[in-house]
Amino acid sequence: MDELDIIVDFHKDSQRQGPGSDIETIKALDLICKTKENIDILDIGCGTGSQTMVLAENSKSYITAIDIFPEFLDVLNRKIKEKDLASRVIVQQISMEDLTFKNEEFDLIWSEGAIYIIGFEKGLTEWRRVLKPDGYLVVTEMSWLTNKRPYEIEKYWTKNYSQIDTIPNKIKLIEENGYIPTAHFILPEYCWLNNYYEPNQERMESFSEKHKHSRLAEEFIKNEKKEVQMYKKYKDYYGYVFYIAGKKGELFETIPEL
Ligand code: SAH
Repeated sequence: MDELDIIVDFHKDSQRQGPGSDIETIKALDLICKTKENIDILDIGCGTGSQTMVLAENSKSYITAIDIFPEFLDVLNRKIKEKDLASRVIVQQISMEDLTFKNEEFDLIWSEGAIYIIGFEKGLTEWRRVLKPDGYLVVTEMSWLTNKRPYEIEKYWTKNYSQIDTIPNKIKLIEENGYIPTAHFILPEYCWLNNYYEPNQERMESFSEKHKHSRLAEEFIKNEKKEVQMYKKYKDYYGYVFYIAGKKGELFETIPEL
């Protein structure tokens, strides 16, 4: 087992693989200026699909949910069967780095807690191709909530996610890469503590035992605990932000001096 196996093994039994909540997913869905009937949604980095199910149950859309780990997709497939949603929701093992879809295939790209993997700007530019001209992109992305912050947290997140940036800078990237920033809002604290960190912490002891306290498992748990500790101490300074953006019809070249 390597480090990645440990991460997947832990998170396949998690309700969610990142901070979030059903209520906030619905709030973001309400902010897209589009009918929610018969639209095609691509859910990128769906994990075990907590947001996939919310999208399916709160719209009449068709959803393609993609992830690279079959362990997560198996869990989502079970949920789809249980709720009898197989006629509207399909699951595919496809990488966000190589979207094997036709141009302009989707009305809406959804990606919670996953665009950081390809990188925020790269995701914006590469994923744009598969969106219809009047399509929308909805992502959550780790962002600084203030323009200054204590050194300890600056250092921690810059080391762990160098693309972390302020909300205005993220919005600027959205605008510069062919989208109209429509709305944004910050995920409330309960999305982190109650919905993500606390359920994870409850499972750590048994996870550690399952792996017979292996070095990798212990290291994983130590890092997770550090992350929680950082969040509790510095949550005023960073968080996940929902960004909602409409695809802009054309990308113009910069106009030369008039
Ligand atoms: N959207 C889910 C999961 C977020 S965690 C939630 O909010 O709960 C990030 C997800 O991205 C994980 O499920 C991980 O397996 C997936 N992922 C990692 N690399 C990927 C890639 N290259 N292509 C697609 N998905 C990827």
